[in-house]
Amino acid sequence: MANNIDWGNLSFGYFKTDFNVRSYFKNGKWGELETTDSETINIHMAATCLHYGQEAFEGLKAFRGKDNKIRIFRWEENWKRMLNSAKGVMMAEVPQELFKKAIFTAVKLNSKYVPPMESGAALYIRPLLVGTGEQVGVKAATEYLFLVFVTPVGPYFKEGFKPVSIQIVKDCDRAAPLGTGNIKVGGNYAASLKSLGRAHNEGFSTVLYLDAKEKKYIDEAGPANFFAIKGKKYITPESTSILPSITNMSLVELAKDMGLQVERRKVQLEELSEFDEVGACGTAAVISPIKKIVDRETGKEYVYCKDGKAGIISTKLYDKLRAIQYGEEPDKYGWVSVVEE
Ligand SMILES: *Cc1c(COP(=O)(O)O)cnc(C)c1O
Repeated sequence: MANNIDWGNLSFGYFKTDFNVRSYFKNGKWGELETTDSETINIHMAATCLHYGQEAFEGLKAFRGKDNKIRIFRWEENWKRMLNSAKGVMMAEVPQELFKKAIFTAVKLNSKYVPPMESGAALYIRPLLVGTGEQVGVKAATEYLFLVFVTPVGPYFKEGFKPVSIQIVKDCDRAAPLGTGNIKVGGNYAASLKSLGRAHNEGFSTVLYLDAKEKKYIDEAGPANFFAIKGKKYITPESTSILPSITNMSLVELAKDMGLQVERRKVQLEELSEFDEVGACGTAAVISPIKKIVDRETGKEYVYCKDGKAGIISTKLYDKLRAIQYGEEPDKYGWVSVVEE
């Protein structure tokens, strides 16, 4: 392990590691996986990723357990999702074997950057697929670059597993109902930057987006899915413009196992006043418990965690998922892959 890093104080930011891996798609096929220590890419100035947003990315993590083993969480799901993203914006599809080899190689080559368990930090893995071929007309590229880099990260929200406040906005959408909200492409993020930046300036950790058409239903919480606990129910929105979160998918399984009833359905804004616990979930933070939701337009406030602490069920779900990720609990779902060093 690299011993000059202050693991406990890492931010969710870019931290240079030693190597990244790349494969180029040309003449209809993927090339051999290449390893490099370069942090830059050299592409054509008319590349489609630059002009027309032809790109997709993924985010997953590797964890070092007490037993010192490195575990990658549910990478197959990230591969499937990247495949959907590629189809969604007409890009070359990355075969499962190439995806697997790329992430495992990137982690192995940088294994000294996988943080120790006690730090609460992890190694973030960022697969990226971009159209590199040149086009001037609006058309899919014929050449692509698939790249994976890794970077050690601390908890996403500076507060860690502590409740945060978020803001409902009605003057901005991150994705159209039948647009690209359900795939992980950069354009959705570009569309959210302004409202997210404003929310941060106004003291909120993220934005709660509503359905773009009617502004009646809850979509998701910035780059994280939304869920709520009501009695013995785990409720999470169903919408065509939500990105299917692998964390959410996993929490649903854990919730069922804990005896909760799972409801995936449209969730009305007004229901916010009926929930016992609410949270945002994603790879970065697993769960960010939410203590307050403020409607920016009406000023209406929904308050949770009145004792300042995360709810009991959110805490249980969080602890359970973390325990599986770090290899503390048996992996009965087959979610983790140990990296052979
Ligand atoms: C990546 C992402 C998530 C979280 O997905 P995970 O697989 O749980 O990390 C949620 N919403 C959006 C918009 C995302 O891009």
